[in-house]
Amino acid sequence: MDKVLSFHQGRLPLLISMPHAGLKLTPAVDRGLVEQARSLPDTDWHIPRLYDFARELGASVVAAEYSRFVIDLNRPDDDKPLYAGATTGLYPATLFDGEPLFKDGLEPTAEERKTYLESIWRPYHNTLQSELARLREAYGYALLWDAHSIRSLIPHLFDGKLPDFNLGTFNGASCDPQLAERLQGVCAETGTYSHVLNGRFKGGHITRHYGDPANHIHAVQLELAQSTYMEEAEPFAYREDLAQPTQRVLSQLLEAMLAWGRQRYGR
Ligand SMILES: [Zn+2]
Repeated sequence: MDKVLSFHQGRLPLLISMPHAGLKLTPAVDRGLVEQARSLPDTDWHIPRLYDFARELGASVVAAEYSRFVIDLNRPDDDKPLYAGATTGLYPATLFDGEPLFKDGLEPTAEERKTYLESIWRPYHNTLQSELARLREAYGYALLWDAHSIRSLIPHLFDGKLPDFNLGTFNGASCDPQLAERLQGVCAETGTYSHVLNGRFKGGHITRHYGDPANHIHAVQLELAQSTYMEEAEPFAYREDLAQPTQRVLSQLLEAMLAWGRQRYGR
């Protein structure tokens, strides 16, 4: 397997994770995908570009190189479903719209999928684990921001149009409630973007697994509506005019998270 993730170590107690940003396919997945999946429609498009300011800010950043169609890094390795009702698994079988992802009989074999787990899923989670441990050791606490985005209209997964900023804290279990309140405040102050806390998206496996406020690891997922920064239809173009004001809010959210941490922990 070639490079499966990119990692940048920063100089702040903040790690940003981008598990669905990858575009690479393995040969077996590439062979098997149905025609309408070939443009990788369910990707968290342009997330590294959208957050390019975060490295300058001083955050650590880990981003996936492989597509979620190969293996979903935001699912547990035992593939227990995250949500009651329609969802996609560790090895997705369907697109977000419910259509099959692979041509009949052309899913990767169990053997192949085992190598995806060991050589793609495992290194990503080892990186999350060790960087969060390093931050906690260095600062006494660690902040984790799991960065996602999704089409704002997917009738198979949710009713109506998704709010712009969907914050998830696993119903309050993955971070201090005061931090969640601060972040909601930032969204509310924009006056232009809609937001929700623990709505349809409450945080996936990464948020739930690593968020451990009692042990000073505070995790938040942001599921951003793609209408806030790009064309939601093919070819999924980045829209600088839309992205710039959205980036300002993202930057304010990360700054608010860091400010909360400094206040709470005194460093
Ligand atoms: Zn995602």
